[in-house]
Amino acid sequence: MENLKIAVIPGDGIGPEVITEGIKVLEKAAELDGRIQFEFTQFPWGCEYYLEHGRMMDEDGIDRLRDFDAIFLGAVGYPGVPDHISLWDLLLRIRKEFDQYVNIRPIQLLNGAPCPLKGGNKEKIDMLFIRENSEGEYSGAGDWLFKGKPEEVVLQTGVFSRKGTERIIRYAFETAKEAGKTVTSISKANALNYSMVFWDEVFEEVSKDYPEIQTYSYLVDAAAMHMITDPERFEVVVTSNLFGDILTDVGAALAGGMGLAAGANINPERKYPSMFEPVHGSAPDIAGKGIANPLATVWSASQMFDFFGYSDIGEKLLQAIEILLEEKEVLTQDLGGIATTSEVGDRVAQILKGLF
Ligand code: ATP
Ligand code: MG
Repeated sequence: MENLKIAVIPGDGIGPEVITEGIKVLEKAAELDGRIQFEFTQFPWGCEYYLEHGRMMDEDGIDRLRDFDAIFLGAVGYPGVPDHISLWDLLLRIRKEFDQYVNIRPIQLLNGAPCPLKGGNKEKIDMLFIRENSEGEYSGAGDWLFKGKPEEVVLQTGVFSRKGTERIIRYAFETAKEAGKTVTSISKANALNYSMVFWDEVFEEVSKDYPEIQTYSYLVDAAAMHMITDPERFEVVVTSNLFGDILTDVGAALAGGMGLAAGANINPERKYPSMFEPVHGSAPDIAGKGIANPLATVWSASQMFDFFGYSDIGEKLLQAIEILLEEKEVLTQDLGGIATTSEVGDRVAQILKGLF
């Protein structure tokens, strides 16, 4: 039996509500399968913690997370704590310190999930976004000159290293190779005349190592349009930090909404723990009501099983979500139902019993 130690950061708002269901499903699947035992350790970090202690996590927080096999995170963010503090002091810090340079976001329209496109579920939407997660537009480099003066200038610098660009593109090709899929690169070389020209060059170079893989390259504006008009042309998609952030929200809207959007922050070398989290934030407008959709978190749990080499279990979790969506009986409000967060978690666990 493999023992896996998971650090749990429920966070703020609906974070703790959805993470409870995520843990419920992880435990149920592990119990039914019999090969894994999870050991969860909770960390009370986030914006509540910030308001009390002046920081988002303990000073030695990163060191305390280091020896875990993975991190399972709900959401951070709170009215009254500026977003850039909650983001930089916890989320981005963990992503950077643990070199989680791959952000995997599946944009897959499951049967039964709502889709705003004409033709709805008949469209084939099955993309895997591989977003650069460590540098690029979110490098944090910049300057604020002559603050408040008429000559005020603000610089926000994109940083694209050869190492950083090459490794994310290579990761996308390796993923596509395993799955027998095409790779699409999304950039903007016509306007970003240094960073994206470089990105395109590296993409071109790396693609030569994979002559058997069909590639496409789009400008980000065109890609945004094609995702709506012609989503089936995208399979594995590799793009920069900012573009990936924006386009995966478009993708989330296509594939059932924020309540179904999952993400994994991966350190492929496994030198440090990887982190699994729903894409959505703390959603203060619905927090505390027990109506948040936990399926994005359950999907992230499925990604966790994939990561640990149990993709057969990950697949069963996805199947359970799909069965639940098709039944249309136990759904939260965002999907047109009246069920509570925990009722959805319970139903997923129940469906799982029939799949092992
Ligand atoms: P944060 O500041 O932490 O990013 P946010 O208010 O931006 O929080 P998001 O998570 O980005 O919240 O989501 C935007 C809106 O989508 C929420 O306000 C909420 O109404 C809805 N939403 C997000 N996640 C869920 C969910 N899991 N279930 C139901 N509705 C959700
Ligand atoms: Mg938000």
